[in-house]
Amino acid sequence: MTSEFEFIDRLRMRLPSATDDQVWIGDDAAVLENGQLFATDVLVEGVHFDLAWCDAAAVGWKALAVNVSDIAAMGGSPTAAVVSVVVPPGGGPLADDLGAGLAEASEVFGCALVGGDTSTGPALVVSVAILGTSPAAGAVLRSGARAGDAVFVTGTLGSPAAALDALETGEVPVPEGAARLHRPVPRLGEGAAAADAGATSMIDISDGLAADLGHIAGQSGVGVRVDADWIPREPDVPLAVALRGGDDYELCFTAPDPMQVGDAFLSRRLSPPTRIGEIVAARSEASAPSDLVLVVEGQSTPWPTGSWEHELD
Ligand code: ADP
Ligand code: MG
Repeated sequence: MTSEFEFIDRLRMRLPSATDDQVWIGDDAAVLENGQLFATDVLVEGVHFDLAWCDAAAVGWKALAVNVSDIAAMGGSPTAAVVSVVVPPGGGPLADDLGAGLAEASEVFGCALVGGDTSTGPALVVSVAILGTSPAAGAVLRSGARAGDAVFVTGTLGSPAAALDALETGEVPVPEGAARLHRPVPRLGEGAAAADAGATSMIDISDGLAADLGHIAGQSGVGVRVDADWIPREPDVPLAVALRGGDDYELCFTAPDPMQVGDAFLSRRLSPPTRIGEIVAARSEASAPSDLVLVVEGQSTPWPTGSWEHELD
C-alpha cells in the first residue's frame, strides 16, 4: 500500500530542492520569491463531500475556503485564485450552484477568482490554486517551533468531524457542527495575529490536531506535551474526535510569549486562542513519536495516531 505521504516523499526526492530563500513541498503553502504564497487543494465527490449531505454551493464555498485556510496557516493574506471544475454528465445546474458558492466565498474572503478550467468527467471535482502574500515578518512555517514555546489552537475542535460521523451513521448532526463541516471559515485574522505575535510555527488543522501538531513537531525537530483537559471542544464532542477528527480548519501555532499572543488577538478583537501545551526538546536530534506526549488526567499517555490519510493503492 502506498500512502499519500509516501507518494509525496518519493515525488519530492525526484525534484530539485528549493532555493535557500524559498519553501516548496512540505508546508501549507509554498513560499516563493518576495514571500509570495502558492497553494492548491482539491475536493472530490465521494471522497471529500457527498451531495446528499450538502448542496453544490457549499462545495464551491469549501473549495475556496480550504485553500484560503492554507494561506492563513502561513500568517498570510490571499490575493487571487484559479479554479478547475470537472462536472459529471447532466451537471449544468450543479455547476451553476457550485459557481455561486465560489463567488460568495471569493467576496467574503477578499480573494479574487481570476480564471480556471472546466471539463466533464465521472464525478464532481473542484480544484483551486491560490496565491497570497506573506506577513511583514515573513511566512510562519511548520518548522520553527522551539523548546519552551507555548502551543495554541484557535476556536474549538472536533465539531465538524462529529457532524460527519453523525451523517455517516444516519443520525442528525448538531447544526453548528454541520455548518462548520460544509462551510468552514478560514482563520485569516487569527493567522495574521499569530504572525504579529511572533508565532514560531503554524499549521491549519485539516487532518486532526494530533496529526497536524505531529507535523509541526516532526518538521521542527522538537517534542510536544499537550494536556487533554485544555483542548477546546464543544460538550457533545468526545476527546478522541477533537484529537483525530479532520476538517476543523482552525489554526495550531507555537509562540514563545503568551502575553504577546493575547495582546495581538485582543487588539484585533478576536477571541483569544487556547493554550493547550508546550514544546519540549526532542530526546534525540530527529523528533520521534515518543517525543509527543498527551497528558490525560495527569498521566502521560502515547500520542494518538490513526488520523485521516489517503491510501493510493
Ligand atoms: P495541506 O493539508 O496543508 O493541504 P497536504 O497534507 O495536502 O497539505 O500536503 C502536504 C505537503 O505536500 C504540501 O506542502 C503540499 O504542497 C505537498 N503535496 C501534496 N500533494 C502533492 C503533489 N501531488 N505534488 C507535489 N506536492 C504535493
Ligand atoms: Mg494546510
